[in-house]
Amino acid sequence: MAPVPRDCDFLVIGGGSGGLACARKASRAYGAKTIAVEASRLGGTCVNVGYAASTVNRLLCPELQLTTTLFRCVPKKITYNAAAIAEAIHDAKAYGFSVQQTAPFDWTTFKHKRDAYVKRLNGIYEKNLHNDGVEYIHGWGRLLSKNEAEITLDDGKKEIVRAKKILLATGGRPSVPKDIPGAEHGINSDGFFDLEEQPKKVALVGAGYIATEFAGIFNALGSETHLFIRHDKFLRSFDPMIQDVITQEYERRGVKLHKQSSQSKVEKDEVTGKLKLHYKDSRGNGVLEGLDTVIWAIGRTPNVEDLGLDKAGVKTTGKGFIDVDDYQNTNVGNIFALGDVCGRIELTPVAIAAGRRLADRLFGPETFRASKLDYTNIPSVVFAHPEIGSIGMTEPQARERYGDNKIKVYKSEFTAMYYSMADAAGDKPPTSYKLICAGPVEKVVGLHILGLGSGEMLQGFGVAIKMGATKADFDNCVAIHPTSAEEIVTIK
Ligand code: FAD
Ligand code: NDP
Repeated sequence: MAPVPRDCDFLVIGGGSGGLACARKASRAYGAKTIAVEASRLGGTCVNVGYAASTVNRLLCPELQLTTTLFRCVPKKITYNAAAIAEAIHDAKAYGFSVQQTAPFDWTTFKHKRDAYVKRLNGIYEKNLHNDGVEYIHGWGRLLSKNEAEITLDDGKKEIVRAKKILLATGGRPSVPKDIPGAEHGINSDGFFDLEEQPKKVALVGAGYIATEFAGIFNALGSETHLFIRHDKFLRSFDPMIQDVITQEYERRGVKLHKQSSQSKVEKDEVTGKLKLHYKDSRGNGVLEGLDTVIWAIGRTPNVEDLGLDKAGVKTTGKGFIDVDDYQNTNVGNIFALGDVCGRIELTPVAIAAGRRLADRLFGPETFRASKLDYTNIPSVVFAHPEIGSIGMTEPQARERYGDNKIKVYKSEFTAMYYSMADAAGDKPPTSYKLICAGPVEKVVGLHILGLGSGEMLQGFGVAIKMGATKADFDNCVAIHPTSAEEIVTIK
């Protein structure tokens, strides 16, 4: 017998950062009858990476191997903290502490504690949904038409939901190389969180946020770390200063960089489990043997398969992302999309902010009818070693937008006071700041910072830049001494 359709005001497919934020606001603030559907664990990528693909995903979409990565940002940051502690233990000697320089790190115990924390977060997410009056269905959502979706439940049964409005917030998954024999022996960013033991020798392929962060973590925790990049530098979407300094710094810290590289094959020794990576880099052809892990970190692919987009007539871009306008409208009147599945700026707070504004616009009072997220001047941090913070335009972007003679660039390079006690020159990592100003009033249009504490530092400067601060406004703020941040308000 065909299931009896259920009706609601708002159906949200995808219970990640963006979907949950939107569902909760629509229900809590505006009383919209809201149903949220999640195929894996609540929380999406930001919270959950750290769990393998759930049974439901394997059953329903074996071809996707969708890891609804509940919370990747969270376990990633916790692992980054562990790496930062390893560095602090190293630094402590310079401050007079008699610490063992090779303090052992118990990856397995740490990993299980981290998993338990993430599991608690999943529970909190479900409780919050309930408290906000959102009905949660665990299953796979698929559009049947512009107002109807089918939900396949864990036991294979189907439910039909009719909704006045539908949000698609299905996120993305790691891209994997298609043409490298043996690539399946490697793992991706999801697999990173499943590692039960710390690899002694690891190769990472990629040049973005994830490759940079993971390579820094492994290196700080003592793994022999090889980073394979296609060009001469990594983080190439960042300001050239950031690219130069971070590439040099990783090399100085002992990360083995393979520049201008490509990979031709991965082999696995079935007895030892060790991997062999065949590659070409700027030095020629090579084979890296004895690897415990190979990690692909080459970008992400939107989750649009088996979502019924064709049934509802929802269009995608040439790169496969759901095509939306500035208001998160798809080409179908009552269907909306946001977050990683739209591929604009793939960050958790971006998905959340877009979700909350969409709820305001769709269900809030008349005054919110134009509510939308402004995608300019969004700050972001790469948890690299040292941390990198960036907001606004890079120098090349600013020069192209305003012209060379309308741009003024301020730079500062120094050693953070924290490292003043370090005895070896090699124990003094760099700090590099760049402030980019435009026009006669020197409006700040870009800020790029690399150094200790940059992650926490950027948020406040982000507020100022979002408000339209000028160089004079920065100068007028009295410095806090002695800090690294004071350089930004005294930069000449
Ligand atoms: P997601 O959070 O991925 O949620 C999508 C959800 O939809 C998933 O739970 C999925 O299971 C579900 N789903 C998919 N298809 C269906 C379907 N048909 N039916 C039902 N459910 C479905 N961002 C930061 O800001 N800071 C960080 O430090 C950071 N670190 C990261 C580290 C890693 C390793 C990764 C991979 C990403 C990181 N990000 C970080 C990016 C961040 O995780 C994403 O930008 C964010 O999670 C996007 O939110 P979303 O709601 O669009 O998608
Ligand atoms: P990114 O898009 O950041 O970087 C992927 C990079 O890998 C590409 O830019 C490219 O750089 C390189 N690459 C692409 N294909 C290949 C290939 N075949 N071989 C070798 N290198 C290749 O993707 P990530 O997967 O690192 O991260 C996805 C997104 O998640 C990020 O963009 C970010 O938005 C988000 N994220 C945010 C974090 C944070 O806020 N701290 C942390 C982690 C993720 P090139 O062209 O130089 O070769």
